[in-house]
Amino acid sequence: MYRTHHCGELNASHINQTVTLCGWVQKTRNKGFVIWVDLRDRYGITQLIFDAERSEKTLMESAKNLGREFVLQITGTVIERASKNPNIPTGDIEILVDSLTILNEAKTPPFTIEDDTDGGEELRMKYRYLDIRRNPVKNNLIFRHKVTQEVRNYLSSINFIEVETPYLIKSTPEGARDFVVPSRMNEGQFYALPQSPQTFKQLLMVGGMDQYFQIVKCFRDEDLRADRQPEFTQIDCEMSFVEQDDILNTFEGLTRHLLKTINGVEVGTFPRMSYDEAMKTYGNDKPDIRFGMAFGELNEVAQHKDFKVFNTAELVVGIAVPGGNSMSRKDIDKLIDWVRRPQIGAMGMVYVRCNEDGSYKSSVDKFYDQTDLAKWAELTKAKSGDLICVLSGKTKAVRAQLSALRMELAERLGLRNPKEFAPLWVTDFPLLEWDEETQRYHAMHHPFTAPKPDHIELLNSDPSAVRANAYDLVLNGNEIGGGSIRIYDKKMQALMFDHLGFTPEEAKAQFGFLMNAFEYGAPPHGGIAFGLDRLVAILGGQETIRDFIAFPKNNSGRDVMIDAPSPIDSMQLNELNLKLK
Ligand code: ASP
Repeated sequence: MYRTHHCGELNASHINQTVTLCGWVQKTRNKGFVIWVDLRDRYGITQLIFDAERSEKTLMESAKNLGREFVLQITGTVIERASKNPNIPTGDIEILVDSLTILNEAKTPPFTIEDDTDGGEELRMKYRYLDIRRNPVKNNLIFRHKVTQEVRNYLSSINFIEVETPYLIKSTPEGARDFVVPSRMNEGQFYALPQSPQTFKQLLMVGGMDQYFQIVKCFRDEDLRADRQPEFTQIDCEMSFVEQDDILNTFEGLTRHLLKTINGVEVGTFPRMSYDEAMKTYGNDKPDIRFGMAFGELNEVAQHKDFKVFNTAELVVGIAVPGGNSMSRKDIDKLIDWVRRPQIGAMGMVYVRCNEDGSYKSSVDKFYDQTDLAKWAELTKAKSGDLICVLSGKTKAVRAQLSALRMELAERLGLRNPKEFAPLWVTDFPLLEWDEETQRYHAMHHPFTAPKPDHIELLNSDPSAVRANAYDLVLNGNEIGGGSIRIYDKKMQALMFDHLGFTPEEAKAQFGFLMNAFEYGAPPHGGIAFGLDRLVAILGGQETIRDFIAFPKNNSGRDVMIDAPSPIDSMQLNELNLKLK
């Protein structure tokens, strides 16, 4: 037996017991006649003591030579500590060691294994196994485990069955590029790694599984944005004989269960807001509703004077920054520079100071009087002491710019409290989205999403007006889940492919299997998938998903520890019938 206890469990009740522990050397303190060693494992730290009076000479010698991160097995007696450490559970005791085995030596780690390490991101990634020894990373992985365990408990308790679907499949379009895997036995043919198990979970519904879930890896070969991973994990779910409300209620239940069991937070019924309303009110389809600063559209009260910038704009829209009038002229100028940065792209910003005495002072006083500005204040719900920031231009662009400004100001004002949770359903997403580049419509969610039944007629006349029973679950400004009610009728699916620009032959070649299945009694069904990595990060009160993934890829999609991707040798290439250019 390697050990009788782990390093986090011994306390005063164990005094005088003989114990055997294993672990890593966190640090040693050598006072000459006494040597202390902090021994660490996943569960905690236990202090070991070697002393010249009570320990054998050879043992003292070995203890002197212990380096950081050596792997030890020790046997000794639990004794009361002279100076106790109330900060750790084992702080009342130490182990007077009488035998020591070095199970393995260790090179000095390239960064300190401490909560606040001196290691940079890239170095920690390269030695991720050492990084995992640090509490913050270790605790995140344990936290993730708890979340997945609760997901499994909850869904299993309400009749969901976890079913595995294959990783070597045929492409499923979810808006990204596929990672492909060449088939050695089928020259010139490739598998694709799933962007999601979408078609399989629908086939499971045709197969009568009724309620499915899976905690599953998905792969998307996208241009990497900050904090995106080419492989990530979803909680993927599907249900039969359901309407949108059934799905929202079920997964509101799951989310509430997680917030309660993981965070100890009780939240009420999640608000629901249509996509159109979210765009109008927050300029964003995943609004953070922990704070206000709702948009006020000002066209009607700002386009009647000689101010050309506003008169030629499609949308004039503003937000009231709480307490913003305390900003100096210089601060406001900096804010204007901030919205004009290319990443945000606004042309400029008009502002109105709402003075304590009820008067207004704006950057466009030349054009607008107090009555005009009072109307702006009313529409943006500005109070005295606030600052109204107004942007104008093309609707889509201006909304995105003002939304970015709203988030930035909320961040600066400390309104994005990670301990507060404000979930929200955004519903009624557009079915289709016009793509300028390819000059055609794309499915906004995916091609299996059903249009709202009374919108089907619009498909020909006004495709962009068609709304779908598609929904996102938003938490604190992040999309944590998304799904839809599906098409389950072969003809409707064929019509959809047609609208997406597939010829009948292409549709058959790519999705014949699904359309065939629809001919054998497909039930009405719908589902949702949560992004597990992000969900875990948010529940953990953090923003970066990398910190909650055991072995993440870096920002360029590389695993710097195993050095992947990497070339393969020519024999392997030949076998796969692949030639490099
Ligand atoms: N497959 C979808 C996705 O990955 C989720 C769903 O529609 O259930 O976003």
